[in-house]
Amino acid sequence: MTGWMGTILRVNLSDGTIEKQPLSPELAHDYVGGRGLATKILLDELDIHCDPLGPDNMLIFANGPLTLTGALSSGRYMVVSKSPLTGTICSSNSGGYFPAAFKTAGYDAIILKGRAEKPVYLWINNDRVEIRDAAAVWGRDTRETVEILKKETRKDARVACIGPAGENLVRFAAIMNDADRAAARSGVGAVMGSKNLKALVIRGTGGVRVANPEEFLRPLIISNHIKKADLGIALEEFGTPLFVDIMNANNAMPTKNFQEGFYVEGDRINGAEMIEKTLVRSKACYGCSLNCGRNTRLPSDSKYTGRGDGPEYETIYSLGSNILVDDICAITKMNYLCNELGIDTMDAGSTVAAVMELVELGKLSEKEIGYPVEWGDADAAIRLLEDIAMKRGFGEIAAMGGQHVAEKYGAPEVFMGSKGQGFAGYHPRAMVGQGLLYATSPEGGNHTTGNTVQQEINGIPEPMDPLSAEGKAELVAMRQNETAFVECCGVCVFPYMLIDGSFEILADLYSAAVGKKYTEADIRAIGERVFNLERLFNRKLGFDRKNDTLPKRLTAEPHNDGIGEGNTVPLEEMLDEYYRVRGWTNDGVPTEEKLKELRLA
Ligand code: SF4
Repeated sequence: MTGWMGTILRVNLSDGTIEKQPLSPELAHDYVGGRGLATKILLDELDIHCDPLGPDNMLIFANGPLTLTGALSSGRYMVVSKSPLTGTICSSNSGGYFPAAFKTAGYDAIILKGRAEKPVYLWINNDRVEIRDAAAVWGRDTRETVEILKKETRKDARVACIGPAGENLVRFAAIMNDADRAAARSGVGAVMGSKNLKALVIRGTGGVRVANPEEFLRPLIISNHIKKADLGIALEEFGTPLFVDIMNANNAMPTKNFQEGFYVEGDRINGAEMIEKTLVRSKACYGCSLNCGRNTRLPSDSKYTGRGDGPEYETIYSLGSNILVDDICAITKMNYLCNELGIDTMDAGSTVAAVMELVELGKLSEKEIGYPVEWGDADAAIRLLEDIAMKRGFGEIAAMGGQHVAEKYGAPEVFMGSKGQGFAGYHPRAMVGQGLLYATSPEGGNHTTGNTVQQEINGIPEPMDPLSAEGKAELVAMRQNETAFVECCGVCVFPYMLIDGSFEILADLYSAAVGKKYTEADIRAIGERVFNLERLFNRKLGFDRKNDTLPKRLTAEPHNDGIGEGNTVPLEEMLDEYYRVRGWTNDGVPTEEKLKELRLA
């Protein structure tokens, strides 16, 4: 096999058994790797009704056949599990340098089952695998953990670990790798914590073979077009915070818990403001020349201190405009804190926003929280984030997520998410396709299971009315299928999903790596198979149309003035069409015919 390493590592933390098994070529060709391979394994082996935080749940780390091949932006991996936040299948994506070590150590996937009796970490030094005592790092933040574990193992090892939030089973805890990169979404960090597993420490020194190195050079050269595209250039200059300006200009920047789509203080929290105040240098994941990451430091005239990476756009929206914090330094501080404590910044922001709105509505009192939490109060948000991670006082309730908090205090409508997961930073009333995408995502409000920004906002390849339902069912299904494939093969969504023409390049790259010709249509079909497989997983748990929902704020409350004034998301109309396009019943269940077509029945 080329592209793949050909080996799956299995670790049972309950009894300490470690096994290696060959990756079956059929499985690899049908499900590729990453999200697809891990979903297939999960569906085949998991007791689907298990407690997500019990020992029976599985946590699967998986890279893809393009990871580390030299394809642009190929330093990515996925973490797949049953989510403690949504109760559905989930797949969380991350980059950095950890994926390179993971793959060159010789593995396509690492499957973790059971629960260790006491805190442990996994030390993988190429083919040598050990379960080690983690007493020295349990309770430590993610930065300290990386430092200590590198000293205990090797300086050139790479670390993916949880912070206190994961140990304390915060429902939206993240797995952090290389200190500042996060497999953030859906609570995969809590699953890791429930297994008493603090970290995976990996050193890999092997190489990756591709089927046709000469042929492989051709798409590599072509891929330079990605870097030269306008969006590629802008990403390099401003990083993902460039989306502050794009979203604000389109009245699509979620503001004050999605009450509005325009943040009047946008200029104080955008990419240019970061360049002026906090940017040290731009930074990239392994094998990426786009450099969209931001290495930052808080300036001496700020009341906050610290140094690290970020924030990314999603954090700027969630802990900035969405809670009315207009200070890039305060947002940066919250970002550092979330990374150190190991919390997903998006669900952190979504939960804090729900708390602020509950306070404003008089449904949650200062006495219950222990201190005032009002819109725009960054210091209160910082205190709340720390309490959430440590499950201190009111933090224990908030650690269950925004949906839980909103329901507990009698106002479920203030939770801005779907299937229990908070939304990413794209306001569906200003781009209704994104609303359909959130509603039908296997794990709720996730932006990495597809994104319609390029078509609905940027008008590429062709302008599309962001406020109209027309064509959105086809668009969303296509984007979801494409993203599923991208997340199978170990590359980043940015270059391959946001820049026109690059999906074709991806088909060429994949073909060159694995030694079999795949067209664009072929890889979309694989993505469709994986997306349907996830739907089947959720279906077995009873999920269907009744779970493909959006908050009333998006479907019944009119959009604020500006572009799309008065607009709402016509979700039911779009769902009818979407299910038809998908070949599902009108209840959102894949038909037998569709499953046969996808070779899933
Ligand atoms: S585009 Fe950005 S996030 Fe994606 S691989 Fe490159 S540096 Fe990492």
